[in-house]
Amino acid sequence: MLKLKNVSFAYLEKPVLKNLSFSLKKGENLSVIGESGCGKSTLLKLIYGLLHTDGKIFWNDQELLGPQYNIVPGEPFIKYLAQDFDLMPPLTVAENIGKHLSNMYPRKKTRRVKELLEVVEMTELADEKAKHLSGGQQQRVALARALANEPELLLLDEPFSHIDHFRKNNLRRQLFSYLAEKNITCIVATHDSTDALSFADKTIVLKNAKIHAEGSPKQLYQNPPNKYVASLFGEINEIMLKNLDRSETSRKKILVYPHEISVSNKSEIKVGVRKNFFRGQHYLIKADLNDQDIFIENPTNLKEGDTIGIKISPKLIEARK
Ligand code: ADP
Ligand code: MG
Repeated sequence: MLKLKNVSFAYLEKPVLKNLSFSLKKGENLSVIGESGCGKSTLLKLIYGLLHTDGKIFWNDQELLGPQYNIVPGEPFIKYLAQDFDLMPPLTVAENIGKHLSNMYPRKKTRRVKELLEVVEMTELADEKAKHLSGGQQQRVALARALANEPELLLLDEPFSHIDHFRKNNLRRQLFSYLAEKNITCIVATHDSTDALSFADKTIVLKNAKIHAEGSPKQLYQNPPNKYVASLFGEINEIMLKNLDRSETSRKKILVYPHEISVSNKSEIKVGVRKNFFRGQHYLIKADLNDQDIFIENPTNLKEGDTIGIKISPKLIEARK
């Protein structure tokens, strides 16, 4: 189990992280999300032992003492994939992956490298030199290298940032099912909630040096405590209640995702259609609700300039109040 107690850190005067505490069970997958600069990378560096904190970090019952105590920074049972993966450019993909594997049992090493090449879908490029790879391919090799000596705890900093959409979904599925199979505890830092949504057991949202929100991705998505959290999952509307309900007198607002609004010409809530954006399976439609811009999802596009009715389920409104 990983346990953080009052972990704080500042590079200069301003604290980047202030009194963070949380714990993670063996085999759990945590995603740390938040906008760029909120301290995600710093948190991973503190856990790995590259930076020193006055707080406490435990792995099982062992306190991780950090760079002031370890001559070589980093704990041996933790692997850390940095945002800037540093490969050896003249070495091949296979050599880079096997770099930290023992040469005592060459057959075992070859088998392990082969297995890892499959996880990151780089089998065909095994003999290519790292310097000839694209950014995304380099990132996949760095990922395989981090997995090579099976870690107990894996820290991944924006692991899919350079990988194109064609591969990302498949790679994510492969990687996270591999980690689950091996019961490897994992923390993924990402600004992209789609990286976090489907695989994480828990999510922590960082903001202003603190844990701003935490819960399962589903809990945070369905009941976002505020606009910042909701917007990490995509487009979000913050609608004045009185625009939905004439009897409402307060200035209270509620959060509604575009797909939670449907077009209904019987509805008394009217909006003006402003613009259609093609999104593949649906259109995202920008509309005007009493001078407020809102976004709606609809299977087809709507005529710009038309006035239409919209509907939001009363149950949802009640739950988000
Ligand atoms: P994230 O990974 O969420 O984008 P970081 O952990 O990299 O955020 O950075 C958090 C804050 O610390 C940012 O404001 C960043 O500018 C600052 N920072 C990061 N690294 C350093 C450094 N080596 N020296 C000074 N400030 C830093
Ligand atoms: Mg970062």
